[in-house]
Parts: sequence; C-alpha cells; structure tokens
Amino acid sequence: MVLGEVMKQTGDLSLMKKLNKALVLELIRHESPTSRARIAEKTGLTKATVSSLVTELIDANLAYESGAGESRGGRKPVTLLFQEKAGYAIGIDLGTDGMTAVLTDLNGTIVDERRKKNNNRETLSAIAVLGSCIRELMDSAPTSPYGIIGIGIGIPGFSDEAGNVLFAPNLGWENVPLQSLLEQEYNLPIVIENEANVGALGESRYGLAKGTANLVHVSIGAGIGTGILLKGELYRGASGFSGEMGHISIHPDGKPCRCGNVGCWELYASENALVDAARKEYEDPDITLDGLLEKAEQGEELALQLLEEHARYLGVGLINIINSFNPELIILGGRLAAAEKWLSEPLQHFVESRSLPYPRAKLDIRFSQLGDRATVLGAASIAIANFFASPKLSVE
Ligand SMILES: [Zn+2]
Repeated sequence: MVLGEVMKQTGDLSLMKKLNKALVLELIRHESPTSRARIAEKTGLTKATVSSLVTELIDANLAYESGAGESRGGRKPVTLLFQEKAGYAIGIDLGTDGMTAVLTDLNGTIVDERRKKNNNRETLSAIAVLGSCIRELMDSAPTSPYGIIGIGIGIPGFSDEAGNVLFAPNLGWENVPLQSLLEQEYNLPIVIENEANVGALGESRYGLAKGTANLVHVSIGAGIGTGILLKGELYRGASGFSGEMGHISIHPDGKPCRCGNVGCWELYASENALVDAARKEYEDPDITLDGLLEKAEQGEELALQLLEEHARYLGVGLINIINSFNPELIILGGRLAAAEKWLSEPLQHFVESRSLPYPRAKLDIRFSQLGDRATVLGAASIAIANFFASPKLSVE
C-alpha cells in the first residue's frame, strides 16, 4: 500500500502522529543518551510535540529520564535514554552439528547464551533441542514490561515468507513448517531467515560492517552461504533465494554436489572441505578444524600448506563475488574465521593478482570479529526490528 492510500484511510493526524512517534523512538534508540531539545532540532518537530511523544514513550517504558534533580548549582538538562531492558529477544543459529542461542536486550547486548551439540539432520531431535534452548532462555530472562518480544532463527538453507524451511541441503531438511510449529508452542513472533543473510545483518549492526552500505558476508561452515547487503538492504532476489554463491561451480567436471550441480565452490572452500583434505593428508579420520589449527600453530609444514591451498580455493569464489557485486567490504565469517592468521595473507595476494582492478579498488576483505556470534546477533536483531515495527507500539 502506498503512503497516500494509508493517509486517506486512517486520516492524516493519526498517521502523522504514528510516524512522528516512530521517528522519535528511533532517535532515542540509536542516539541515547539524547534530549528533547536535540530531538526537536533533528526532526524539525515542535518542542511541544516532541514532549508529548516522549511522555507517551516514557509511559510505555521505552524511554526514561536521567539527570533530573542531580543538579548542584547550574540547571542541568534532563537526559533521555532508551530503556533497553524493556524487553528481550532470542536469537538462534541452527547449525548442522549443534546450535547457539542467545538472549539479548533491545540493544542487542547478550545477557545469556546456550550452546548445544546435536545432530540437527534429525529434524525431530533438532526441534526438541531448539525448544529446550528457547525454554531455558525464556526462564532466565529478567522480568520486563514486554517480556520476550520475539525469536529469530538463522538456518543454513531457504525458507518462505511463512517460515517454512523449504530446503536446507546440509541439514537434509525439506518442507519443515518450523515457524508455525514454534509459534504454536511458544505463542511468540518467530522469524526464520537464511543464516548468511542474518550474519550480514549482524555484521552491519554490531560488527565490522557498521555503516557499510554494500557488503557481502561469506559464511563458511559445513557449506558456504553469502548474505548480500546492497545500499543498506538485504538483497533477497525475486523470491528470496539469492546469495547461493556456495553453489557457483568452479570446476565443470568437479565433485558432485547435493544441489544437483558439480564442482560447487563450497565443495572446495568450506570448513568441511578443509577438514576432509586434512583427514586425507594426515590419514587421520578424526582430525578436526581445531586440531588442524593447533598443528598450524606449532608450525607444521603440512598444516600450513593445507591452509594456503584452502586460501586459494576461497579466493576463486571471492573473485567471482568481487567481479559480480563490486562490494565495499567482504566479511568472512563462520567458524573458519578462526583461521584468519593463516588464510588472510595468501588470500589477499591471490585476490589481488587475479581480480579486475576497478571492482577491487575500494574493497576491503576482513575476517569477522564477531566470530560465530554474527548469526545469533543478526537473528535477534530481526526479532527486535519486527517488535519496533509492530502495531502494538503505535498510537491508538
Ligand atoms: Zn552445489
């Protein structure tokens, strides 16, 4: 619906008030501590309008005042702060071998966390463990006016708008109505979103990508997912299935992939690909990523070679991304970000020697500093954004 239609239907005054209140709340959220005078200056609203909207927000427990009555001597202005403890969100990263779940306040600060190992390829068991994470975090949440405001879940696959997991190849899930199952159980708003998309949001709100408008987040785990942020917005494609760069074929006669293609990038550059190569070279079926990185730390030649080779495979895909999207920033996230020390230099070198100079000119390639928390934070941030966009918070 376009704005003009809304205005005709609801009347200008009520809509204007709603928009202004949302604007004032947004300033208090993002610029806290602030003041009524500053808000009036920034929005162009009259001081009387700002004051009345702020009073409503204070009554709604979303803002509070500080500084009043503390003055000794000269008059101190009353500071307005966002009440980030007015409610709590849950963010979950559903992986193949386990899950991470966090409870955050409305600013996205983590107040509690659960990590559980589980074979999530078994759908029923995965849903049971998801449930226990949710219940434990709900129980541990401090008492607050709005309670738990919603749950965001990042999944390694595709979902539709109703939150059905349509296809998650590395989980082996097809058509799982995850959102409706959880909504029935917990009676809370639930959002399901691709984990690389969620990670891109997490990086842009809380990580290295703050303020970056054109970003590609490459999440490297069991597979490779990419979340693409263009002009500050997630690019989802025509039906929400964009960003499957992990299935760009880098080898026309390569290994067969579960997606139906052969030679997909993730078969060569994911964490699984690196661990498989290490198992083969070391003739040790139990070696893990941590085990390999320990060997590299000790300066073992074979481990260093494996990581250098892996950087080249990563680079091949990154060059495709750079030439396609001309991003300002590529963030490499997921568990493989822990290997930054060994991957970074050969990767930068490979990319510099092979990508087109103009798309690369203003590009920065960085490893996530949020580690595997980009996904949980991004998932919680979607739940928080939905809460602030919900009609419950608008004016009567
Ligand atoms: Zn594939």
